[in-house]
Amino acid sequence: MDSQWAYYRDTWAEINLDHISYNIEEMRRHIGDDVKVFAVVKANAYGHGDEEVAREALNSGVSYLAVAFLDEALALRNKGISAPILVLGISRPEDVRIAAENQISLTVFQQQWLREAKELLPSDVRLAIHVKLDTGMGRLGVRNRDELKGLETLIKKDPRFNIEGVYTHFATADELDFTYFERQMERFKEMVSWFEARPEFIHTGNSAAALIHPESHHNAVRMGISMYGLTPSPEIEPVLPFRLKPAFSLHTKLVHVKKISKGERISYGATYEGAEDEWIGTLPIGYADGWIRKLQGQEVLVEGQRVPIVGRICMDQCMVRLPRELPIGTVVTLIGRQGESYISVNEVAEKLQTINYEITCMAAARIPRVYMKNGKVKRIINSLLKQV
Ligand SMILES: *Cc1c(COP(=O)(O)O)cnc(C)c1O
Repeated sequence: MDSQWAYYRDTWAEINLDHISYNIEEMRRHIGDDVKVFAVVKANAYGHGDEEVAREALNSGVSYLAVAFLDEALALRNKGISAPILVLGISRPEDVRIAAENQISLTVFQQQWLREAKELLPSDVRLAIHVKLDTGMGRLGVRNRDELKGLETLIKKDPRFNIEGVYTHFATADELDFTYFERQMERFKEMVSWFEARPEFIHTGNSAAALIHPESHHNAVRMGISMYGLTPSPEIEPVLPFRLKPAFSLHTKLVHVKKISKGERISYGATYEGAEDEWIGTLPIGYADGWIRKLQGQEVLVEGQRVPIVGRICMDQCMVRLPRELPIGTVVTLIGRQGESYISVNEVAEKLQTINYEITCMAAARIPRVYMKNGKVKRIINSLLKQV
């Protein structure tokens, strides 16, 4: 393969690694030297690509990586990442050995889980555990004193297991009404006081809490969405302690340009009809790329101008109405900046009546990721063709 060309279709996501390191540095300044950052790189780093984001985060002073599932942690190990990794979701007791052998820390909160894991872990292997407390999220975690003491007793007697951390997750940290948040904080403090020995890492904050609730920092925060430069919610945007810089942008190129006459129609269902003679451009991106059909009508940027997507979005392509004839190869920006014009992840999320998190996660694996560092392409990862 010609190493200059890592992909063979002109659609790509650009990931600005300088913005990732900037967001982490600002967060570290905000939380202070005594608080560690866990970089949350689950779901392929919210669509940004786990390996490059993890490497950038570790270079920016992050202490720990966090993912949702053991497979994601093992994928990072396979890519040569040796930093500590915590699995935030549940893992099967049967898989305790592979986790421990790969120095992957697991979230644990069920006594039954530990009893099974104890049967399966070889005597010379050590597993670091973070105990999850359910303080009001109602998802995973220990809920009362008996459960916690039972768990602690099972672990304490066994040198293979080490309670390295304790944590909880907030349900409403991204809202300006603090009532429920404060209730969870109180419950967390109470539950942590039940431990006989205080674990090394005590962490509660996701991005929202880390940004606007300093009392939730303890000695580590779990930084997800804000590392990618996105606001945890529009509601807290006005009270953010520093400006976030989005790392993700999405681009394609015009691959076909034609003039249609008044009355001629476009795409499946023939839902769009030319109101007059119009220039129509075809883009090689569609719903299989995560640019879903509900985005019909959404605007994109061409030569710094907003133009609408017209007609149904197809699996691999969609059409836009152009202001005039434009050359094939003209860059089209679906998310990001062209001159003075800007389409944010938040704008696309609003169009889809969802949250910004979902938008970058939806960018399909078949879209190559182009990593920018110091204004230059550092690396291109095309998961269809593997490493290039
Ligand atoms: C995903 C996740 C985070 C990160 O949350 P952000 O809002 O993206 O910062 C933190 N903690 C847990 C348990 C998570 O699942």
